[in-house]
Amino acid sequence: MSCHDDLNKSEARFRTLFANMTTGMALNVLVRAADGQAEDFRLLEVNPAFVHHTGLPAEAVIGRLGSEVFAAHAPALLDLFAQVVATRQPREFEFRFEPLNRDFHVRAYVTHGDHFATIFEDITARKQAEETTRIMATVFSNSNEAILITDANNRIVAVNAAFERMTGYEADDVIGEDPKILSAGQTPPEVYRDMWAALKERGAWQGELLDRRKNGETFPKWLSISVVRDAQGQIANYIGSFVDISERKANEERVRFLAHHDALTGLPNRFSLQERLAQALGFAARNRKKLALMLIDLDNFKAINDTLGHPVGDKLLIEVAQRLKGAVRGSDIVARLGGDEFVVVLPDIELPADAAHVAEKILKAIAAPIKIDGQTLHTSPSIGICLFPEDADCGEELMKRADVAMYHAKAQGRANFQFFTDELQQATLVRLAIENDLREALEAGQFALFYQPQLDLRTGRISGVEALLRWRHPERGWVPPDVFIPVAEETGLIAELGDWVLREACAQLSRWQEAGITGLRMSVNLSAHQFLDPQLACRIAAILSENALAASQLDLEVTESMSMRSPQETVKLMETLTQLGMSLSIDDFGTGYSSMAYLKLFPIRTLKIDRSFVRDIETDPNDAQICDVTVLLAHKLGLETVAEGVETPEQLKFLLSVGCERIQGFLISPPLPADEVADFIRQHRPLDWLGTTELWN
Ligand code: C2E
Ligand code: CA
Ligand code: CA
Repeated sequence: MSCHDDLNKSEARFRTLFANMTTGMALNVLVRAADGQAEDFRLLEVNPAFVHHTGLPAEAVIGRLGSEVFAAHAPALLDLFAQVVATRQPREFEFRFEPLNRDFHVRAYVTHGDHFATIFEDITARKQAEETTRIMATVFSNSNEAILITDANNRIVAVNAAFERMTGYEADDVIGEDPKILSAGQTPPEVYRDMWAALKERGAWQGELLDRRKNGETFPKWLSISVVRDAQGQIANYIGSFVDISERKANEERVRFLAHHDALTGLPNRFSLQERLAQALGFAARNRKKLALMLIDLDNFKAINDTLGHPVGDKLLIEVAQRLKGAVRGSDIVARLGGDEFVVVLPDIELPADAAHVAEKILKAIAAPIKIDGQTLHTSPSIGICLFPEDADCGEELMKRADVAMYHAKAQGRANFQFFTDELQQATLVRLAIENDLREALEAGQFALFYQPQLDLRTGRISGVEALLRWRHPERGWVPPDVFIPVAEETGLIAELGDWVLREACAQLSRWQEAGITGLRMSVNLSAHQFLDPQLACRIAAILSENALAASQLDLEVTESMSMRSPQETVKLMETLTQLGMSLSIDDFGTGYSSMAYLKLFPIRTLKIDRSFVRDIETDPNDAQICDVTVLLAHKLGLETVAEGVETPEQLKFLLSVGCERIQGFLISPPLPADEVADFIRQHRPLDWLGTTELWN
């Protein structure tokens, strides 16, 4: 056998091997530049596995330069291959071939001279698995959820950092242990039974467990467990992840408390009162006991809150809550409905007098001075009391009727208590009926204006009329304004109604003017609501111009108590009105408490002396004196006076003697419908109606 034969044989063996290898292989040679520097490499041969793994066709590779085949990757590969050839040492490296999106493990070694072989192995799948493992490990260690992994025997094999933080145990403390050691020992055994059953059936479980930290502190955790099985379907691991839910539970507790309690005072709230009251009523009914429900409203809370600020108001409410609790027994219910409204329930009393006794105590307790932030405050309650079973038999009715009684207490001058009575109920029903009917009365055209003439004592002429509102109720007949105006005020209907009065009065004045009755001034009563409305001046200006009237023909009456409620504001409001040209009168003068200092600042024209003083001029020297002094005062302030309710010639004479400018009253004329007033004015003879002319001189 020749040497050549051997060579041929080994060559053939190598060929077979090369062709059948499952790993890709290439035979290459370095390409050198003129100066001997390796500047590229050429692929001389590749085996079928190479073609298979790289997906590159043999003809696109064999005989080609590395720079052609591997493009951007070529320089890095050349670098490595040149080193292999230079050092004659084989090298292994990993190489990611981007165009194919695959990873290869490459081994390069020299065969002879500048020739070298490269063996490729596709490791894409392994790389991916490694990447997934890396991500999982990151998730495991960085997760905010505590993670605990046990083996098939439920022994802990791994825990993460969050686990260590949450439980206080380090990995070394727990590896090899049963997770049982974490338990606070308070979870009922059936929870664990359910857990294992679910894991067996569905391979997963979620639920709440109570655990104990290493420092002994217990905490509720929300745990999810899933079962991991191996390729054979055998349980390999349990993975448990959990979060500490003590904060969430505490929040839930707080929400539940807040739902039942008033956040400010900590007293039971309206919702919780309903529940407790229902219980107490059930108890009282079964045991044939009496129960009293008191509705308590603070008299001046709004003023305190508005002037001293909400923080002070809040402290006051907290103090009142304390005092209420102090004034009753522990078994009594004290609740806050909201705002400055409280409810006290006495679930077990013998006599109504017992409730009265407690109400007295509450009145005293709350009336005592309250020190807040260094200032001493005074408040008082108005209390309405309703009894079970006499007055009402369910919680809702008790509350309603206590409310009726409470309003009565307010009307009685505050700082007192009132029991619910049937008469009160009657009055309330009437008031409710009026309220209901009032809503439709305006649209139904049931309102009318009557006009009462005013006589000017200096000229004997009718100088003006006061518009007075009348409601002709389809069933009740004429309802007096004293009855329905307060209701309209409370319901807010007064805004619309007051507007209607202004329009109607101005339209009437305009009609009279067209009919030849000139030089009359129209007086219109304003409600507090209207007076405080910043748009009032604008609206009046519009109404005047619609009716082609001069502002000086309109006089607005504002009561003394309205104007003195917040005198500084009143000055401003009055100024905007008078700047338009109309005049202002203070109505019912003498019935309120006027501050002389403010009276001087008000841009008013007239004081109307209240009819209660005029009425008793002849019989009560005091009242006569009040009229006298009022006129004096008005003159000092540069104001005119109108005396209201003049009914007798004697009253007139007295008023004349003290220098009163104008009078209004039944002596001249009652309020009349528009056409009758027109006739009255036309027929009025300045000099003959009193039968004497001296009076005018
Ligand atoms: P007021 O403004 O003091 O009106 C005078 C009231 O005294 C009128 O009662 C009038 O009818 C009555 N009166 C007039 N002369 C005499 C008299 O010689 N003797 C007696 N005993 N009474 C006399 P009226 O019309 O029932 O009005 C009652 C109150 O209703 C008014 O008191 C006023 O405060 C209010 N009011 C009437 N109309 C309106 C209105 O359009 N708007 C507003 N906001 N309030 C009105
Ligand atoms: Ca008036
Ligand atoms: Ca009046």
